[in-house]
Amino acid sequence: MMLGTEMLRGIRPITTAGSRNAFVTLVTNGDYAMGAVALARSLLLTGSPADIVVLFTGGVEASALQPLEALGCRLVEVDHLPLSHAFNLRHARGNLHANAPFTKGRKPAFHSPLDNFCKLRLWQLIDYSTCIFIDADAIVLKNIDKLFDYPEFSAAPNVYESLEDFHRLNSGVFVAKPSLATFGAMLKQLDEPDVFWRRTDQTFLETFFPDWHGLPVFMNMLQYVWFNLPELWDWRQIAVLHYQYEKPWEVGHPKAAQLRPLIDLWHAHYTGEGVPAPGSLPSPRDADAA
Ligand code: UDP
Ligand code: MN
Repeated sequence: MMLGTEMLRGIRPITTAGSRNAFVTLVTNGDYAMGAVALARSLLLTGSPADIVVLFTGGVEASALQPLEALGCRLVEVDHLPLSHAFNLRHARGNLHANAPFTKGRKPAFHSPLDNFCKLRLWQLIDYSTCIFIDADAIVLKNIDKLFDYPEFSAAPNVYESLEDFHRLNSGVFVAKPSLATFGAMLKQLDEPDVFWRRTDQTFLETFFPDWHGLPVFMNMLQYVWFNLPELWDWRQIAVLHYQYEKPWEVGHPKAAQLRPLIDLWHAHYTGEGVPAPGSLPSPRDADAA
């Protein structure tokens, strides 16, 4: 394995850590930076004392980072991982979509699969004892600090269509312990010859942590549950709402009419105005009837 100093490369914190634990997200372009603003505002409403860390790449303009800084987020610049050219080609958007098509939903044009792997840089944040990673396309609806006491690696199942989804994890929310040894082991396993991670970091993490600890689905409630499995939906239980596939800030996306109440909730968090009490929101069936 590489030396410790080598394992600290590719990551440039702009400020120092302010607590032992952190929420961590990733933004590689202006669209996901918007997402992170809604996420950060929603986290601040939970009253957590943990840092909110935003990993960002050179693909994000300073003006898109400014609102995150103003909200008190800790900005940490990261490079893409040092992966082989062949790995990058296999996981480039065009190749990945051709070899592992998305049949159940649509990814926005601003989503680059290769960027997902930058999530693994969380393991380099060794100033923290525990991190909760949350995708930039999610909002937090209640305090989830208890997850800082959960083991590595904890994640919720990838439930949005059927019971079979319980066999897979979703990497939009996970609990992890930063460690350079783990990071080094990951880099080694990630880029083996000819390997193809069809759902990028998600498939990799499932393989790297075969004994992953299952969190309740409410810790990562996927938006498609709203129309596919409405009997699972209970606003009082949902801790993290995750807008997988189409994003709530995409204007007029194909599922927008069906997901209207969820999109409105995201915009309330994004602007910080008129955030409703979760108990006051309609159930999927009420919304249908309306
Ligand atoms: N991401 C990013 N830029 C990209 C792709 C992904 O910043 O081009 C980050 C962002 O935090 C995003 C996460 O990686 O939320 C995973 O991608 P996404 O949420 O779009 O995937 P989905 O949840 O739809 O599977
Ligand atoms: Mn996501």
